Amino acid sequence: MHEMSIAMSIVDIACKEAQKDGAKSISVIELDVGKLAGVMVDSLMFCYESVCKGTPAENSKLLVNEVTGMGECLKCHFEFEIDSFMALCPQCESYEVKIKQGRELKLKAVTVNE
Ligand SMILES: [Zn+2]
Repeated sequence: MHEMSIAMSIVDIACKEAQKDGAKSISVIELDVGKLAGVMVDSLMFCYESVCKGTPAENSKLLVNEVTGMGECLKCHFEFEIDSFMALCPQCESYEVKIKQGRELKLKAVTVNE
């Protein structure tokens, strides 16, 4: 499952970060997930819990910050909110739209227990 491997890498990175800081355990992991990243947040939450078992992130909380998709029309440079890759410029109806935001999937912050 896609979300399972994402959860594993998030927890892996967070645990390494926490170890570097000499922390015993992790309390919160904060994540930026773009609406166009193709990630099912519910599924990710579910996988996260099982991945955390037996790691310093056990019983930690996963906070997902959903990032809105934004596109820019390459013809008229109009910027607008998008929710799919097949976006149509609302101003000039061009399909030449560059995705500026919404594909991100990144670890934003790790809160640890000292
Ligand atoms: Zn346009």
